[in-house]
Amino acid sequence: MSQKVQPLKKLSGQVCSDLEFLFTDIDDTITLDGMMPAETLESVYMLDKAGIKVILVTGRPAGWCDYFARMWPVAGIVGENGAFYFSYNRKKKRMERVYLVSESERRANRLRLNLLGEKILSSVPGCRISADQPFRIADLAIDISEDVEPLGKEEVKRICGIIEEHGAEYKISSIHINCWYGTYDKLTCFDRFLSNFTGGTLADYQDRLIYCGDSPNDEPMFKTLENTVAVANIEKYLDSLEYLPAYITDGKGGHGFAELTHHILEKRNGID
Ligand SMILES: [Mg+2]
Repeated sequence: MSQKVQPLKKLSGQVCSDLEFLFTDIDDTITLDGMMPAETLESVYMLDKAGIKVILVTGRPAGWCDYFARMWPVAGIVGENGAFYFSYNRKKKRMERVYLVSESERRANRLRLNLLGEKILSSVPGCRISADQPFRIADLAIDISEDVEPLGKEEVKRICGIIEEHGAEYKISSIHINCWYGTYDKLTCFDRFLSNFTGGTLADYQDRLIYCGDSPNDEPMFKTLENTVAVANIEKYLDSLEYLPAYITDGKGGHGFAELTHHILEKRNGID
């Protein structure tokens, strides 16, 4: 581990002033103990008012994403680990839904995922299909600690092995193992969002965006993006991460996200 995580206060005024897009994970990054603190919503309103476009990023289902895109002052939401983004155009009163695989592929993939789910449930005692599965479009989520007793490392490894044997992709979050067929991920979906929204690519916007996360499933973003922030609860994973976030907050979950928001806005307003 050659990099070093710096405290949030080191995030420069230049980055904060140039900032156009703030991509943030949801679970345990803007939530706290499984709930959404009031200061999170207030922070998103403050960022929006300052002209910073917030894009939520999650493994959570399409049904949840539809609500966030419509009700929150966000530019969009990347859901189901990059399967799609939703963006609500308030002026035109239109929800834009962009998927990274076609409808016919999604239908075929659903049948394969159903079989994969049956295989996992019959092979690994203690896991369940996640309670939010009926609201998902492109993936299958196996509950490993949300509404079940947390599974051990061996069981998690066994589930991942079955997914690999069936040729699917997967990501492990703090609560679920999400699996899907298709070569997309969150970063490819960011790229699609930016290209549709601005005409530019993720590479073009490297110095005008920040990503905020909390756990090992945010590591691809810590690896690829320049300006990454983690909330304090990432502490327990730091020794096991190959790619670290650039900065870390003092506060956990939503408190850390509010801290990031205040830092950005104070730096943009020239307050040190
Ligand atoms: Mg998270």
